[in-house]
Amino acid sequence: KLYNEVQDLKGNIRVYCRIRPFLPGQSEKQTTIQYIGENGELVVLNPSKPGKETHRLFKFNKLFGPATTQEEVFRDTQPLIRSVLDGYNVCIFAYGQTGSGKTYTMTGPNVTSVVDWGVNYRALNDLFIISQKRHGSVAYEIGVQMVEIYNEQVRDLLCNDTVPDASMHPVNSTKDVLELMNIGLMNRAVGATALNERSSRSHSILTVHVRGTDLETNAVLRGCLHLVDLAGSERVDRSEATGDRLREAQHINKSLSALGDVIFALAQKSLHVPYRNSKLTQVLQSSLGGQAKTLMFVQLNPDVESYSETISTLKFAERVS
Ligand code: ADP
Ligand code: MG
Repeated sequence: KLYNEVQDLKGNIRVYCRIRPFLPGQSEKQTTIQYIGENGELVVLNPSKPGKETHRLFKFNKLFGPATTQEEVFRDTQPLIRSVLDGYNVCIFAYGQTGSGKTYTMTGPNVTSVVDWGVNYRALNDLFIISQKRHGSVAYEIGVQMVEIYNEQVRDLLCNDTVPDASMHPVNSTKDVLELMNIGLMNRAVGATALNERSSRSHSILTVHVRGTDLETNAVLRGCLHLVDLAGSERVDRSEATGDRLREAQHINKSLSALGDVIFALAQKSLHVPYRNSKLTQVLQSSLGGQAKTLMFVQLNPDVESYSETISTLKFAERVS
């Protein structure tokens, strides 16, 4: 049944758009999101041309307005997560400018509050629940890795040793996962103070490996889930950025466009998929293409000041959808 559910979803690449609400203190009048239609349609108004119909229309598989809860977002993500237990590889990532809600969607604002949990925790929780339900027929082993990619370098967030492959940590419960992710987030934060909010300029990747052994036939299946909080997609003013900041910006640019190129190639069913062009696409390769399922959350900030970033985010989404 699960298998059919996944097969029924059209194609291997899905694009969901999520518009974050205004934060306390922000005026609701200053929005550029003019109209949220049915069927995933969105109209964005150009603030410098008031009254002029300078808007664009985009189509998504799902469009989540500002009032959408974490639970509602997860409901439409769950079938993909569950397919990992049937041996699929899945990649879910959040794309958007800094402040658009990527971390909110993937991790959530507050780990201690279950209703706030983002996709990461809900996904792992769901994997444990389903694997326990099947425990009479399939024995599952679940392990996680957590890395960040900064300036084209991969850093293990769960182990301080420099090893060629990221350390793998067996997990048996949501509690194990919460503990590990806290360590990972803390290790990430250490870099952040030293390098000025580095977290918005690095990609963080939580990888979940699932190995299931059929207790009757001893057949083994493997599935892998990549959960990715990408670096902020905002363009950096070249005239202002110098030194480290410019280097960071160039690396982010390079890896995000490499990701866009890979997904574009897959969407076009192109024979050549350029995985080798960045660390990000190399790390995610197993869950992009082939039988793998990919879901992109396009995150939007409704502010008028974000207009040009909103348009560039939507152009990225349009190219790959
Ligand atoms: P990013 O990771 O893209 O830089 P964040 O996830 O940190 O952005 O979100 C920026 C701010 O907006 C945070 O204070 C976050 O709690 C808030 N926020 C983002 N999305 C939502 C949402 N859907 N509902 C409520 N607050 C949100
Ligand atoms: Mg973030």
